[in-house]
Amino acid sequence: MSIKRHRKATVFGTLTRLLAAALAGLAAGALFAPDPPRQRETASGEPLPLVPVSEPLPLMPAGTEQAPSDEAAGMGVIELDSPRLTVSIDGAPCAMELEEYLVGVVAGEMSAASCPEALKAQAVAARTFTALHMAGKAACKSGCTVCSDPFCCQAYLTDAELHARWGDAYPKYSEAIRSAVEETRGLVAVYGGELINALYHASSGHATESSEAVFANALPYLVSVDSPEGDSGAVSVQEFGAEEAAGRLAAAFPKSNIKGPLSEADIEVLRLTPSGRADRVRVGETEVSGMELRLALGLKSTAFTVEFTREGAVRFTCIGYGHGVGMSQLGANDMAAAGADFARILAHYYTGTELYLLKYADAPG
Ligand SMILES: [Zn+2]
Repeated sequence: MSIKRHRKATVFGTLTRLLAAALAGLAAGALFAPDPPRQRETASGEPLPLVPVSEPLPLMPAGTEQAPSDEAAGMGVIELDSPRLTVSIDGAPCAMELEEYLVGVVAGEMSAASCPEALKAQAVAARTFTALHMAGKAACKSGCTVCSDPFCCQAYLTDAELHARWGDAYPKYSEAIRSAVEETRGLVAVYGGELINALYHASSGHATESSEAVFANALPYLVSVDSPEGDSGAVSVQEFGAEEAAGRLAAAFPKSNIKGPLSEADIEVLRLTPSGRADRVRVGETEVSGMELRLALGLKSTAFTVEFTREGAVRFTCIGYGHGVGMSQLGANDMAAAGADFARILAHYYTGTELYLLKYADAPG
């Protein structure tokens, strides 16, 4: 399922142009990003603890595009003990089957109105994330296999919650989500024969970020690739009062010695990541990562500029939503709308990966 990729220069050039366009007319700016806590993010862009990752593996040839499930002859296999797992739902342990669990995850992590192939890509990413936990290669803070806390594992919505969310559209949306899960049944993303750490995020704003730029671990399948997203959902503006911004930064970074209101002299981006996100930032008298700054202010991404307005506000303009590593859900949807199938989407965002099929020791066949 290898696909042609654009040159890195194109990636950076695109992001640079997007940034330039987004910032046109803005006053003095600074881009902020981290050396962060190990985190991942949900569709909503909420930061989550990053699951443990395995050591980088030797590069394997790209896999072949194959139909899922029944026609998976020749497809690689990942063996698990059982298809059952225990999900901590709002603190209460609940035993269920993986494929049924994934319906609640995909519904919680992505809009049911997304393109079918994008929903299928999301289903495989979520299945891979869960399988990593079921295989004992990642742990949940709850003590269960996984939990419904998006700050720890993945979002999960119960059927009752889906009825409440979708109302009269429940039959249509439920069918869309269930089809995405069923049509990819058992499929997981693999690199070098091992389940990958299938990170994903809401929007990368035209280029994803390499894992080491955010999480310290360099992983060969989590490298920067272009992300063909439309401009509409990629740019957002967040404003703070100068006193409020100073208060939040002083609370988050006591060593900054910031005494409000925040001024231009209090913030300086020292270094950008290769994809143009803020890496290191000086805040007052201390230096922090872009991710730390993002979390302190609740910014949507670390690809941001800051402007001090005449009205005394501090305005952040962010490109994308989330940490930017792995699959961009907005980009996946745009790829699907342009005709890509889920395998191609996954191969694009998880470089050099293949699709394998889960098999269970207690449920042969
Ligand atoms: Zn958890």
